[in-house]
Amino acid sequence: MYDMIILGAGPCGLTAALYAKRYGLNPLVLERNIYGGQIANTPEVENYPGIKHISGVELAMALYDQVTALGVEIKLEAPVSCRLDTPVKEVRTQQGAYEAPAVIIANGARRRKLGCPGEDRLTGLGVSYCATCDGSFFREQEVAIVGGGNTALEDALFLANICRKVHLIHRRDQFRGNKILSDALLRRENIQVHYDSVPEEIGGEERVDRLTIRNVKTGDTTDLPVTGVFVAIGLEPDNEMFAGQVETDRAGYLLAGEDCKTNLEGVFAAGDTRTKALRQIVTAAADGAVAAFEAANYINSLNE
Ligand code: NAP
Repeated sequence: MYDMIILGAGPCGLTAALYAKRYGLNPLVLERNIYGGQIANTPEVENYPGIKHISGVELAMALYDQVTALGVEIKLEAPVSCRLDTPVKEVRTQQGAYEAPAVIIANGARRRKLGCPGEDRLTGLGVSYCATCDGSFFREQEVAIVGGGNTALEDALFLANICRKVHLIHRRDQFRGNKILSDALLRRENIQVHYDSVPEEIGGEERVDRLTIRNVKTGDTTDLPVTGVFVAIGLEPDNEMFAGQVETDRAGYLLAGEDCKTNLEGVFAAGDTRTKALRQIVTAAADGAVAAFEAANYINSLNE
């Protein structure tokens, strides 16, 4: 039996593992997708304290190297079910079942979908949720990116280096993302911003060849002749597996305060998965440290 199971190998989960190991505990990290979580898809990180500039992949690898050098066990297995309301918690994957007295849920959040016609049918055929992963397939082509947050702004800048033309579609006339990014974006000649606009339909038989957008103020529709549509409209919780066990807010984020404690003893929610105001790498890493500290205290209390 492990001392704790950490769900997720993003900055939060890996930081939790780092701290757990330094508390002399034996954590198991389960990751269903990719080491580093969302940062593995982030082209450039420029707001992590102490590091002027680093790619998301480099930061993820540095974290991974740091924790594996300490002997932390990380398994690439997707959790499929869990039992968290008993003293010994169990997490099942398709490969096996794992037990521990404490669980840290650090599974992040997933990309939100547009929900417009053509999106599901053409996903992987021109519709993408990751510009850094798929952008190079659209070299010298005309593409669109939807969203007005930091992800969309960063991705538009990234795509503008690769693609002939980038259309940025945002539903309002002001960006949610940082001014430093929007200023950089507005200086780029091959980025055209469509404010007050929403996607109506993604078209194409075998692959994307068109995005129809509608101006929400005038009602006018426009067909953009794009071969790629990148969706960057934010995140949503990915917590269905914990339904009925861990309490959530109305949006589905796990209810936990700054101490990362949930309604269940020995179960901690940390990083983007929990209710919080600011979802950043630095806040995810901070949560990982706090959750490991609280989990260590909990485990010690069991032995008193
Ligand atoms: P976000 O900040 O939540 O922004 C989502 C954007 O998509 C918003 O502009 C929103 O419009 C728009 N949107 C939401 N639902 C939509 C829909 N159904 N149709 C059309 N547009 C829709 O998400 P994010 O950009 O992915 O960022 C997530 C978090 O990571 C944020 O906290 C962000 O600051 C952080 N992040 C930080 C950095 C950085 O610091 N360098 C980089 C990337 C991400 P409205 O503006 O009208 O709501």
